[in-house]
Amino acid sequence: MDSVAEEVDAVVVGAGFAGLYALYKLRGQGLSVKVFEAADDVGGTWYWNKYPGARCDVESMHYSYSFDPALEQEWEWTEKYAGQPEILSYLRHVADRYDLRKDVVFETRVTRASFDEGTARWHVRTDRGHVVSARYCVMAVGCLSVPKFPEVPGLEAFTGPWYHTGTWPEGGVDFTGQRVGVIGTGSSGIQAIPLIAEQAAELTVFQRTPNFSFAAFNGPLDPDRVADVKANYREVREADRNSIFGIAVEWPTKSALEVSESERRAVYQERWNRGHLNGLVQSFTDLIFVEEANETAAEFVREQVRGKVDDPETARKLEPRGYPFSTKRPCLDTGYYETYNREHVHLVDLREEDLVEITATGVRTTAGEYEFDSLVLATGFDAMTGAFLAVDITGRNGLSLREKWHDGPVTYLGLAVSGFPNLFTVTGPGSPSVLSNMVVSIEQHVDWIGDLVEHMARNGHAAVEATETAEKEWTEHVREVSEATLFPRADSYYLGANVTGKPRVFMPYVGGVAPYRQKCDSVAESGYSGFDLR
Ligand code: FAD
Repeated sequence: MDSVAEEVDAVVVGAGFAGLYALYKLRGQGLSVKVFEAADDVGGTWYWNKYPGARCDVESMHYSYSFDPALEQEWEWTEKYAGQPEILSYLRHVADRYDLRKDVVFETRVTRASFDEGTARWHVRTDRGHVVSARYCVMAVGCLSVPKFPEVPGLEAFTGPWYHTGTWPEGGVDFTGQRVGVIGTGSSGIQAIPLIAEQAAELTVFQRTPNFSFAAFNGPLDPDRVADVKANYREVREADRNSIFGIAVEWPTKSALEVSESERRAVYQERWNRGHLNGLVQSFTDLIFVEEANETAAEFVREQVRGKVDDPETARKLEPRGYPFSTKRPCLDTGYYETYNREHVHLVDLREEDLVEITATGVRTTAGEYEFDSLVLATGFDAMTGAFLAVDITGRNGLSLREKWHDGPVTYLGLAVSGFPNLFTVTGPGSPSVLSNMVVSIEQHVDWIGDLVEHMARNGHAAVEATETAEKEWTEHVREVSEATLFPRADSYYLGANVTGKPRVFMPYVGGVAPYRQKCDSVAESGYSGFDLR
């Protein structure tokens, strides 16, 4: 066991997209940096989520770092939407190319971080006995990195193997000949189900909420298109940064309600055919604001579902209803709905029968018992706050982050928390985060933190802290902007609604990637208004 007390300029927690870039950036600015990572390798999301079918839903050529044009040019993505192994290879390549591993301590979880007011430094402790003192603590812990389990008893009683999609075993699982139960039809379930169905003898899917899923039209990348993007990468990246979701899509100019039915359908069909996550929701100006407009897009997607599923009763259950279109993160799929046309694939609608418990042999609902050889839990994550609150973080005057966020997260810009000087929350609640192409948002946050650290060094500051006023105003703004949309109408993980007892607060900033960036830039340009520097 390691127990060396060590001093560095910055501790970074996590070695996914965010932690790796934070290390690269801060080291490049001359800081000594130590990264702690719970896994035994880099990759974050792309290390843990090795389930069959795991892939990005933002096109690979956009879901990648932009910080080094040489890296952009040399890396060859093979598919429109790269699979998990390819994205993990990319992140491993990044770690090797910039010699990042030498500053990462693997298989080590940060358990505590406490701020020492006398020295204005963080004392960071790990489960392997490290105690490190650092000026800055960069929490790059991920928004979707704490797996969430079904909220019914009995998992420990199940005698067969079970797998959570977010901690899938290395080397995969062979389901050949097995009766498999899958709980959950969010993005991970929707990606995994068609592939598990290819192996399983019988597959039963337990669905609580039918999601809006679009056909990805995935496939090998067209070399001409790759060449075109590579030739124009600076403009492409700039357009992504100046977009609403971090992926440039033409800005709509019309309301869905001002055009004829046939024009509307033509627009939806054209957007659908692109196989993009945000294409459809940006077809018209009012889809996320006006229920009646939103319903036109929702109905278009339901029609696609009906067109793909042979059995009308199964199609009815799969049709997304009960919340507005796009207010939960939509999914991209390859053959998801068609999978239900296979004779050995069955759908259990948990709005019609309740999940009661997991038993020794399978799953019991209010309607009966289902027997399985293995279970797959595609039940998502304790999103956005889970990984921050898993660490015992104590700021000034012994204030704990868990207490401070008891009624929901409060932050200034989703980047900093009053009472917690020199601590940064990468893609934290109150920033566009999970509503965006996250690599764009991660780079923006890390660059902004890097600039602030440089500003502090130049001006001889030891501590920076968000003021309570700025934090209150920003948190209020985040709430107001979300309430002007339909987003809070869905029981989504954006609201913490997937975790019983979690405060119901809309966490990401829906104001858009571009306006958010402008706000962060203007804060920096004004000498960091809303922050106390000392
Ligand atoms: P992560 O990749 O989650 O990395 C955080 C790391 O921190 C983890 O490795 C974790 O082990 C480590 N960690 C956490 N707490 C501690 C601790 N206390 N001590 C030590 N280590 C710790 N986003 C998109 O924009 N587009 C997509 O297409 C997309 N697809 C996704 C698909 C899946 C299956 C999932 C789960 C998420 C997807 N996301 C997508 C979101 C994705 O999480 C982000 O895009 C991105 O990978 C986040 O990077 P990160 O470094 O912030 O966090």
